[in-house]
This record gives sequence, structure tokens and C-alpha cells, in this order.
Amino acid sequence: MVRVRFAPSPTGFVHVGSLRTALYNYLFARHHGGVNILRVEDTDRTRYVEGAVENMLRTMEWAGITFDEGPVTGGPVGPYVQSERKELYSKYAAELVAGGHAYPCFCSAERLDVVRKAQQAAGIPPMYDRHCRNLTKEESESRIAAGESHVIRMRVPIGELIRFHDIIRGDIEFDSKTIDDQVLIKSDGFPLYHLANIVDDHLMQITHVIRGEEWLPSTPKHVLLYAAFGWEPPKFAHLPLLLNADRSKLSKRQGDVAVEDYRDKGYLPDALINFVALLGWNPSATEEIFTIDQLIRDFDLERVNKGGAVFGRDKLDWMNAEYMRKKSPEELLILVRPLAENRKYVVSDEYLLSVIRTMQERVRTLPDFVDFASYFFVPPTDYEEKYKQKHWNAEAKTRLAELLPRFGAAEKWDHDTLEAIVRTFAEENSLSAGKMIHPIRLAVTGRGMGPGLFELLAVIGKAESIRRIDHALRNLA
Ligand code: GLU
Repeated sequence: MVRVRFAPSPTGFVHVGSLRTALYNYLFARHHGGVNILRVEDTDRTRYVEGAVENMLRTMEWAGITFDEGPVTGGPVGPYVQSERKELYSKYAAELVAGGHAYPCFCSAERLDVVRKAQQAAGIPPMYDRHCRNLTKEESESRIAAGESHVIRMRVPIGELIRFHDIIRGDIEFDSKTIDDQVLIKSDGFPLYHLANIVDDHLMQITHVIRGEEWLPSTPKHVLLYAAFGWEPPKFAHLPLLLNADRSKLSKRQGDVAVEDYRDKGYLPDALINFVALLGWNPSATEEIFTIDQLIRDFDLERVNKGGAVFGRDKLDWMNAEYMRKKSPEELLILVRPLAENRKYVVSDEYLLSVIRTMQERVRTLPDFVDFASYFFVPPTDYEEKYKQKHWNAEAKTRLAELLPRFGAAEKWDHDTLEAIVRTFAEENSLSAGKMIHPIRLAVTGRGMGPGLFELLAVIGKAESIRRIDHALRNLA
């Protein structure tokens, strides 16, 4: 039975890399009919951010990633929040100390600082110098009994090669001399990541650990801890780094990295999920658009690449546009309505639907519906200068003033009627239709580009279109 977990530390927003980790765990669990677990790793109180857990839960829900066990759902091996499991870790740390796999360390922060600086000055990687590693049991015990502040450190074996297999990367080897005598329990009794993580993975019967490449250097420590406890380690799969277009590590400086940013900018969750699924996973099909069910059916860890995956913003935009086109106008209405309300646009559902139908093929994100063509909601307050220079002159104004009564007399106000009126007028005056179309567009929208003019006028309606043309004729020089 496959059991996987997503184990975020609640430190603020949800990074797109975390979304990918959560997604791959979810897909893997669903593909194998296994269990997807959410575990909150909040033992580092210095990094804890108020509200981060709630935000993470909301973000997962928005993205459609569900958990079978976790802080909200509960489950047989809870609690699923590490700060609620604190006593457990001390017990296991004591077991390690008793077995000689860990030891108390009494070094002060000042001493550690001096050691670190000396190592840095000598150009060697800073590591604990193992000062307390060989204290006798009696000495450590009496210092603890006297209330001396201490941490518990892992006793990393000397001169060993630590080997493990990674599903994505194959066989991996670390020399134990590169591994620090890691702190497992801090002086305040809180466990550090490594101990809490493996104790929980063991107790929660995790079969596969699927996480980002940045955790690869932690894995030999975990492998040693599993061996120290005599537990069988889970299988490991480390996902490739996410990169900027220039192949540097994905960073905030080069664009949005928070899932919440994409949500707030109006990306559709299924589009973002589809996009994120392809960051490192290589489906056998050439097709790029996958529903969640197709992803579940096709996903496997064997087809995840080792090399970094470029987070291509253009591709995301393209994908989002594809998803927008696939939605029905009625589905889009539900998503666009709140955006219109935010901007205080007062319009009926019917009107908004006609705007959506007109714009659906042209927009890339949801807010485009209300921002791209704000003239559907408010009359233009400025007019594109270059377009005006080209198409707004005395002659155009005279013609428009002559045409306006025909608009007023129109009995129907739809695309074909409007087209007939304008074309007939142009022919009668031996003009090309463009000579009329451009000034009308300028007067009604202020913009030089947009959907077809007759369609646009039909949406905006008779009274409002005429009012705007009239206003431009009076006020636009
Ligand atoms: N809490 C770690 C994180 O924030 C979990 C790493 C792991 O999956 O082991 O990513």
C-alpha cells in the first residue's frame, strides 16, 4: 500500500516548487490507489508565521489537491502537526543516546561561533568539531542533572560511505566525513527537522518520500538515523530544481514564485496544475494539455527528469489561455463576476456574459476580462494618441455626425444591422468602410485595437454607443 506525505513548513506563502511537490505526491498516491498525507512541520518556531497553515490549506484546496489524512481530516497515525508531537521526539532521541547513536553536547553558542570562524578563516567547511562527542556517560549525565543547557547531536560514523537509491537519480553515495554531527534536539527541547521528519515518516508508515532536490544532502543523515533505529527506510525520489529562463535557481527577483500570486492574478487552478505537472515530468504523449484524471492515470516517477526544469511563464500564459477557451461562458461568469464587483462595475449577468463571449478568444487570464477592455464597463476617459492622430480629423467628424442619426433610427442593434448601416453609408459617400470604422472605434472605446467593431457595439448597446460617439464629437479635438 503506497503511503506518501506532503510535509510543508508553514513559513508564509506556498512556493510553486512546494505546489509541485504536493502535486506529485498526490498524483503518485492516486495513481497507485494509495494514501496521501498532509503533515505540518512546524518545529522551527523562529520561522513560524501566523496564519501560514490556514493559507497553505486554502491554497491546496484552490489547487484541488486533497489529503486522506492530515490535520483537518485526522487519521489513524495523528496528530499530523509536529508541534503536537514534541514529547515523542524526545523519547526517540533518548533511545538514540542510549544506543550510542547520539550524544548530549554542552557547547555554548559563543564557543561554536569561535570554532566556525576559525574554520572559515582556514577555508574549511564549517562543521561541529565534535568537542563533546567523547564525554563519558557519567560526565554528561551529571552535567544534565545539574541543569546545564545542552542539545542532542547525532553521532555520525567516521570513514563510512553512505549509500542509498533514489528513484529519479539512481544510486547515490555520500562520504560520512562531509556530514556534520547534526543537532537533533535543541536546548529548548524542540526537535530539528531531521529527527522529527524520519520519526514521523516511520510512524506514519510512509513508503515513498517525494520531495525537492534541495533535501538530497539531508538524505544520508536520514539513512543513518533509520539504520540507528533499525527501521527500514522509505524509497526516495528527489525532484529536480525549478529554474528561471536563464537557468538560475527560480527566484522571486525574476517573477512570481508564490502560488497565491498566480491565484490573485486570475490564473485558473487547473491550468496552473497542468503547467506545474510538466515541470520535471515527461509524459510519453506529445500532448501537453492534461486533465487531472489524465495526470493521475499517466503519472509515474520513472519519467521525472534529473535536470532542472525551467519555469516558463509564457508557456503558463499559453496554457491558461487554452483553459479559458475550454470553459463555457457560464463557468467563466462565476469567476469573473467577483472581479467586476471588486472594480465596482455594476452590470447584469447577461451583460457580463456577452462581454465574456466577445473576449473569450482574446484574453490570457481572468482579470483580462475586466481590465483588458474596461470600455465595456466605463466610457473611455482617454483616447490613444497615435490612433487618434491617424483617424480623428475634421472630415471624419463630419461623416460621423452624418451617420449618427442612422444609428439613432436603427430598429435593431445587432452585428449585422450595424454592419449594414455603416457599409451602406460608406458606399453612398464613396468611402472605404475603414474610414468610418476607425473613428467609431476610437469614440466608443478610446483604443485602437479590440474585438470586431460591430460585435463590440452590439454588446455595449445602442444608447451607450450613441452617447459615447456624441460625447467624442463634442469634446474630442
Ligand atoms: N518540511 C520540509 C519542507 O519544508 C519537508 C522536507 C521533506 O519532505 O522531507 O519542505
